[in-house]
Order: sequence, then structure tokens, then C-alpha cells
Amino acid sequence: MSDFSLKSWVEVSPNSDFSLQNLPFGIFSTSKKSPRVGVAIGDRIIDLVELNKNKFIQINENLVDNEYLNDFMAEGREFASKIRLRIMDLLREGNTELKDAVSRGNIIVNRAETTMHMPVRVGDYTDFYSSEDHARNVGTMFRDPDNALLPNWKHLPVGYHGRASSIVVSPAAIHRPKGQTKADDAEMPSFGPTRLFDFELEMAFITCKKTKLGESISVNDAENAIWGMVIFNDLSARDIQKWEYVPLGPFLAKNFGSVISPWVVTMDALEPFRTSGYKQDPEVLPYLKASKDANFDIHLEVALQPDGGEVETICTSNYKFMYWNMNQQLAHQTVNGCNINVGDMYASGTISGPEQNQYGSMLELTWRGTKPIMLKDGSERKFLQDGDTCIMRGYAQKDGVRVGFGEALVKILPAN
Ligand code: CA
Repeated sequence: MSDFSLKSWVEVSPNSDFSLQNLPFGIFSTSKKSPRVGVAIGDRIIDLVELNKNKFIQINENLVDNEYLNDFMAEGREFASKIRLRIMDLLREGNTELKDAVSRGNIIVNRAETTMHMPVRVGDYTDFYSSEDHARNVGTMFRDPDNALLPNWKHLPVGYHGRASSIVVSPAAIHRPKGQTKADDAEMPSFGPTRLFDFELEMAFITCKKTKLGESISVNDAENAIWGMVIFNDLSARDIQKWEYVPLGPFLAKNFGSVISPWVVTMDALEPFRTSGYKQDPEVLPYLKASKDANFDIHLEVALQPDGGEVETICTSNYKFMYWNMNQQLAHQTVNGCNINVGDMYASGTISGPEQNQYGSMLELTWRGTKPIMLKDGSERKFLQDGDTCIMRGYAQKDGVRVGFGEALVKILPAN
């Protein structure tokens, strides 16, 4: 697959997320270029419309001169693999084909001069709840430590259908949502801005297949339908959530905005980082039994920047902490015949690790606000404040090669 010793003639700093071994896909525009498909390398972007026009690749123009990746993804994983490997070859040290042509074309642009757009038109969106440490923490806080996991949790990947329309691309700014809440000791609910505004550190996979209603995708076939991944911040209003979620689950506490990183990292690029997950005990039902490992070693972190202040990392986690893997999630989602589409987004659920500094939400990090986080500027946080910027980053790394996601950044604006 990816040769880790290969270098590019495009300068890539060692801590860049966008190495030659990554080559993620996204939608970018410049002051002169309409939104189109691009591939990131270092601080540059390869314009696939121009690459195609100049015959370095030869594909249907509509697939790349397109404001979404959906049509490109619909061609399937093998098609994308071929294009990505061709671009890798064009960019490797020693190959002068494209290098010689760069001076006469505008095939390569500086990332700093571009605007990133939503990579896909999201048809449907599911949010799972698949990190055991997260589910256990929440269950301990809201129920009791002996009963932290509900009886179904280890038998199926719990999830719900969310709101696709309010998923936006980083960098984003989201207003503090308003809604109905009820204090435990209050007789009546009240209305106003959420007081418990939180992030949820998640990743999401995107599907490249369309199935018919009635069809299912088996756990061992799921990978053919999974194209790539992004970082996903499932912003949450905890006080609204607590009052509204019984009996049907999250609603207005979640649908006011979720933020994703703009570059879709392909499963091919992540393949070298495949690893085993937590041992599943009790044994899962046959339709959820996967024949191979499907967790990935992806370092994750969340940083907070108070208005005008310093950026500070407040937690680190890892995608490998998932109890249920994405193949199991997709198999479960479709086992009843639920159809899927190209560009559907499936978020992991908050990804927490076993240690306190590995918790993927303020709710857990501050243990419901009882242990505030002290920031360098002397202020403390129980939850997000207006003016705070929340930045999520993720990357896989080994042998000096980094395959990263860039960032999912959101600034918290006051309620309007
Ligand atoms: Ca979530």
C-alpha cells in the first residue's frame, strides 16, 4: 500500500498532517476558482480539475468540477484508490512529470489562499454511542456506577438518526443554542440559552455506496462501502438534553450544529494504522462478528482558546478506544433493511479513553462541572463560554510519517 520511505518533491514539514502517504480529498475554492475537488499535500492543494485538463489523470470532468465529493465517491473505493496512487506517483521525489508542468499551469495552489467547503452533501446522518469509557462515565454520572451501562449496550452499537442539514465545515461559528430546561428542584421548565454548552470529540465515516431499501450490508462487506473519515464535533447542550431526551433520545440538544474537518482522509491512507479494539465480552451476535480488526490508531486532541487567549490542549484521546468498530456500526444500521446512500455520515459517538485526561467532553472532563478545568489565563471552565474557540485535531503517525485530518474548529458565539 503506502511506502513510508517515499518523499515528495513538494515540501512537507514533518508535523504536517498532509504527507505524501495521506493525500486526503476535499472541496476548495479560491478568488479565481469555483468550488472543486482538491487533494492536500503539505501547505498545497492539487487542483483535480486542472490536473485532469492537463491529462495527468483522465476522468469525467464532472466528477472533479463539482461542489461535492459525492459523485467522485459514488465511483467506489477502487476508483479513488487508483486516482490517489496516480497522484502519489506524480508527487513523489524523482518523478518530474508534474513538477516540470507546474510552472506553466495553476494545478497547485497554496492552501492559505483557499476556502474549504463541505466535502459532501450529507444525505443522512447517524450518531452512535460506541465508546465504552464514555458510556460508562455518562452512566455513572446520571445513573449509578454499578449500573453504568444499560443492558443493551454490549449487545448492539446504540445510535440514533441525527440532523444532516446542520452539519457544517470548519472553521465554523455557532451561536449558543436556546431551549427548554428544567432544574431538578424546579417545578416548571424555563426557557433560555443553554448553560451547559459542550463539545463531543468524535470521528465520522462517510459511505460511498447506495443500497436499496430491504438490502443489508454484512459486517465483512462493510469496508467496501466506507470511503473515508473526518473529525466530528457533535456540539451538545447538556441541560436541554437532560430534560428532553426521555423517552426518544436527543433532539434540540444536538441539532443546532455539528462541525467537521474539511479533508476526507481515505481508508487507504488509514490502512497502515489498523489495530485491534477492546475485547468484546460478552460475545456478540453472529451478524456483528467481524473477521478482522477494524479499529484504527488515530491520536485525537481537543484544544480550547479563550477569546484573545492562548490555545491550550485540554484532552487527548484515540479512535482505537472504540468498543464497536465502524464495520459493526454499518452492519447494525442496515441489518433491518435500512438503505444507505453515497455521502451519508456516521459519527462514532464521543470517544473517551480510560484516563481522566482522555475524556472527550467537558461533561466528563469536569465531571458534570464539579471539577472545573483551570486555564493558563487563570480562568476556569465547567462548560464552553461565549468567545471560546474549540479546536479538534487528529492524526495517525508511525515511522516518521503522519496521516492527519487537519482540524475541526468552532467559535462559540453568544445566543442570538
Ligand atoms: Ca454524540
